[in-house]
Order: sequence, then structure tokens, then C-alpha cells
Amino acid sequence: MNHARSGPRPNPQNVYYSPRRAARRQAMRRRYILILAGAAVLCLWACFGLAGLIAAGLHREPDVPAVVPVQTVDEPAPEDNTLRIAVDAGHGGSDIGAEGVVKEAEMTEATARALIELLEADDRFTVVLCRDWSVRSTPTERGEEAARQGADLLLSIHGNSWEGSSQDVHGFESYPCVPGSAYYEESMRFAQLVCQEISAAGGTLRGNGGIRYIYFDEDDDRIIREQGDETVTGMPTFSILEHAGCPALLVEQCFVTSATDVALFGDEDGVQLAAQCYYNAICAWADGLAD
Ligand SMILES: [Zn+2]
Repeated sequence: MNHARSGPRPNPQNVYYSPRRAARRQAMRRRYILILAGAAVLCLWACFGLAGLIAAGLHREPDVPAVVPVQTVDEPAPEDNTLRIAVDAGHGGSDIGAEGVVKEAEMTEATARALIELLEADDRFTVVLCRDWSVRSTPTERGEEAARQGADLLLSIHGNSWEGSSQDVHGFESYPCVPGSAYYEESMRFAQLVCQEISAAGGTLRGNGGIRYIYFDEDDDRIIREQGDETVTGMPTFSILEHAGCPALLVEQCFVTSATDVALFGDEDGVQLAAQCYYNAICAWADGLAD
């Protein structure tokens, strides 16, 4: 029998037995049991606390500061007095666009970033991004994102390509919201300002002054009309223009397949020059609103 696990038993045969010592031992045992019980409670408490912390850690949004209220996707953008300029890189993520001397996605992203830098340095403007840079998204989604964020103007940047022959096809084209649509006039005013800037920077304007209307027929085939043919067709145009909810312009900044074009508006310096043209045109467009 293990005496340590049972109560003290008087044993007159035991010469060492003392009632006082036995009582002291019993008190010590009680204290020992109390300490053990306390330690067990503390241990349980610590385990639950740790589990709670781990669970909270797993469910926390890593990039959202805890004290700042998070703006949900459905909330409209806050009101301010700046003009909200939506800058859309026409391609990105797994969508690389056309390939030539340069890749269209890289050229459009570099231009968009350069333009954003210029706009962000100007307190008259707030930049609206239509996409996550690294994610593929449709033109409709990007137009809707610009509208959701209350954009006042949208610029969608693309590069053209030509694979028909060895002939050097080059030049700048722009596509505003089409005649008969809600934002046609303001889109045209912006298109004209952009084309003036591009021309002044040495660019060649394709078609009639670099401004064209694009339509899609029932078979989704493209129909292009030059500036000057303001017939209201009621046919769909580029979906990003239709969904932006503001004056909008899609530009084909350069032919990525043309060395001449890339040297002007497609290489490292070229995208800076193009961004400066767009920025100047945006400033002139904004000045026109105040008149
Ligand atoms: Zn494109």
C-alpha cells in the first residue's frame, strides 16, 4: 500500500509516529493538492487563451489595419472635390495582349503607371484604378469598376499590332464613346485634346485626325467609322466605354509591331512621353469643364 496516496494512519507500533507531524503532513498534502489544482486551472486557461489567439490569427485579414473601418465592395467612393480619373492598363495578368517589339501588356502598364504618377502629384485629381495589376479582368468589369468608384473620366491604354506584311504600319488611334451615347460630346472633347498632344509630340494620327468610332455587328465583327461620320448606329462599341459611366476614351498608343512607333511611344522614354501627353490633355479637359 502506498501511504502517500492515503490519509495518515496512527500506528502505535511506529516509534516515529507523532500526531502533530501527521497533521502537518496532511496540511502539506492539502496545500500540495490545492497548488496542483491551481496549476491545472492556470494551464487550461492558458491553453484556451492560446487557441483563441490562433483562431483569431487565422481569421484576420492580413492587410487590413484593425482600427480603420474597412470600406466594403458595395460602398460608394467618398465624396471629394477632385476629379476622379480612371486609368486603365488595357492588358495585364495572364492577358498579355499583342506582342511585337514590346509586349502590349508591359507597354500599357508602364504608361499607366507613369500617368498615375503625374496625376497623383496633382491635387486636382484622384486616380481611380480599374483593375488589380496582376489579375486578368474583362473590359466590362473594368468599366464597371470605374463607374463604381465614381470616375469622371476614363482613359484605357492599348497598343496596336500589325501582322499583315513587312510594311511598317504605325500611328496613333483613339476611340471615344460613340455618337448618340450619353458621354459622346465630352469623350470627343477629350479625344481631340489627346490627339493634339500626341501630334505635337511627333506622333502620326491615323484615320481622320486620330479619332475613330468602333462598332460591333451581330456577328461581333468590327465596323470602324472615321471622325466626321457621326451617324447614330445604336450598335455596341468597346464595352469598357459603355460601362464606365463617364466620358471615356480608348487609345491605341502605338503599334507594338512597329520599331518606329515603339521608339516614339513604346519604349522606356516613349511611355513617359505618352503619359505626359495624356496628362496634359487631362489638365486641358479639366480646365474646359470649369469654363
Ligand atoms: Zn489591347
